[in-house]
Amino acid sequence: MKNNGINSNYDLKPGDFNTRIRPAWCRGCGNFAIWDALKKAFVSLKLKSHDIIIVYGIGCSGNGTNYIKTNAFHALHGRALPVATGVKLANHKLEVIAMVGDGDGIGIGGNHFIHTCRRNINITCILHDNRVYGLTTGQTSPTSDEGFQTKSTPHGVLEEPINPLMLALAAGATFIARGFSGDVVQLKGIIEKAIRHRGFSFVDVLQPCVTFNRQNTYYSYIKLIYKLEEEKKYDDRDFSAAMERARETERLATGVLYDTEKSIYEDGLKQIERKPLVDHVIKDIDINKLLKRYT
Ligand code: SF4
Repeated sequence: MKNNGINSNYDLKPGDFNTRIRPAWCRGCGNFAIWDALKKAFVSLKLKSHDIIIVYGIGCSGNGTNYIKTNAFHALHGRALPVATGVKLANHKLEVIAMVGDGDGIGIGGNHFIHTCRRNINITCILHDNRVYGLTTGQTSPTSDEGFQTKSTPHGVLEEPINPLMLALAAGATFIARGFSGDVVQLKGIIEKAIRHRGFSFVDVLQPCVTFNRQNTYYSYIKLIYKLEEEKKYDDRDFSAAMERARETERLATGVLYDTEKSIYEDGLKQIERKPLVDHVIKDIDINKLLKRYT
C-alpha cells in the first residue's frame, strides 16, 4: 500500500468524507460515481482524511477539490501530476492521488503523464475520461472519437483519439486499469487496488458527460464493456495481453489490465530513506545564505 501508516481506530463512513458543499455537477454526470467510489475505497482502506492529499487539475473533475474532505490542491491546467510528484517527494507518507480530466491530463498535461508513468512514483492517477472539454462547454479533447462534432470541430474530429491505456502501458506505468461510471462497485474495487499498488497506478474511467457528449453515453458504454475479472484465464501480469485488450475498440475491457512490480522512484532517494523531507530539521541552515546563491 502506498501509505504505510494506513490504520484507523474508528470506523469511517463514505459520508464522513463529504464537505458541506454539495457537488454542482450536472445531474447524471459520471463524476458523481467516481466521487462515490473514491470515498468508499477510502473507507475500505481505513484511510483518514489527513492521510490523503488529492491534487486536482482543471476541469469539471477539478471542482471535486471542494467536495471531498481530504488535504487538497487545485493545480494549474495540466499540472496535477508534477504537483502530486512534488507532494509525494516532500512527504512520502501521504497517500497522493491525482485527479485529472482527459483534456487536462492527456492533452495539456500529456508530457507530464508520460514522464510520471516511466518514473514509477508511488501515486495514483484517476482519469475522468469523458472525451470532451466539459468545463469550457464542449470542445474536442485528445480522447474524443474521430468524427465527433463539437463547437471546436463542427465538421467532426479529423484525428484518431489517444488511447490512454496504450499510452500508459508504453510509457511504463506499473498498474493500469479501466473503470466505468455506471458501475460504482467495480470502480471502488479498482481504485482500492490502485491505491494499494506500490508504484504509479493509472485508472482510466469511462465517465459520460451527459451535457456535452451525446455520443459516449451510459447506454453506448453498457453495450461495449465487459469485465476482465470474469475471464478466468486473463493474466494481468502479461504485458502483451494487456496491450491487446487496451487496443480493442469493438468492445472495451474494464478491470485491471496490467499489474506488475518494479522498484519505485522513491527507492533511489537517499534523502528520504530514514524519514520524509518534511520531518527533516532545517533550523541550522542559514536560508539567507542559500537564497543569495540564487540571486
Ligand atoms: Fe459533468 Fe459534463 Fe456537466 Fe461537466 S459538463 S459536470 S463533465 S455532465
